[in-house]
Amino acid sequence: MKTKKKQWYEYLWIWSIVYFALGFFNILFAWLGMIDFLLPVILAVFGGNKFFCNHLCGRGQLYCKLGGDLKCSRNRPTPKWMASKWFRYGFLLFFLSMFGNMVFQTYLVAEGARSLREAIKLFWTFRVPWGWTYTGSIFPDWAAQFSFGFYSLMLTSLLIGLIVMLLFKPRTWCAFCPMGTMTQAICKLRNRKKAL
Ligand code: SF4
Repeated sequence: MKTKKKQWYEYLWIWSIVYFALGFFNILFAWLGMIDFLLPVILAVFGGNKFFCNHLCGRGQLYCKLGGDLKCSRNRPTPKWMASKWFRYGFLLFFLSMFGNMVFQTYLVAEGARSLREAIKLFWTFRVPWGWTYTGSIFPDWAAQFSFGFYSLMLTSLLIGLIVMLLFKPRTWCAFCPMGTMTQAICKLRNRKKAL
């Protein structure tokens, strides 16, 4: 029997690993994560679909690989409340407010009201020194501050996803992932407009 040829985008889980690895060497690479932030929204706005989630999300693929192929998941059903509307939208709001706070901290550094903090914050609580990844650059300090903040957000969400992957189904994170909730809301709005 002929096996189906794999598409290039089925290997994007490797990108997910590379992204987090790069953040151990130079924090400025964290900016590359903006692709994963903007692309799903752009595709949802212009395409009205979840093409990113279905085909291009390296993180979703990584959870599948670890939890499914490598059997690192207990594979228990995802608790219903995690996929409920109130939790998904509540988590999205929380996530966006943390993103807003991170942008505000970047602004303070840009204005000279605060100095650059060479650390990342895990789970929005635990400060971890990360200074070796930044020894100055041609870019202003605010660009580095954004990197530390954004990498914190990305790593925290990855870890939450890994924890729920271990406890429940491999892709449990997708049930309440802020990007998934946001793109789903955009697609719904877009399709509702079309139907009017
Ligand atoms: S819900 Fe989030 S993690 Fe899951 S596939 Fe979509 S963007 Fe990726």
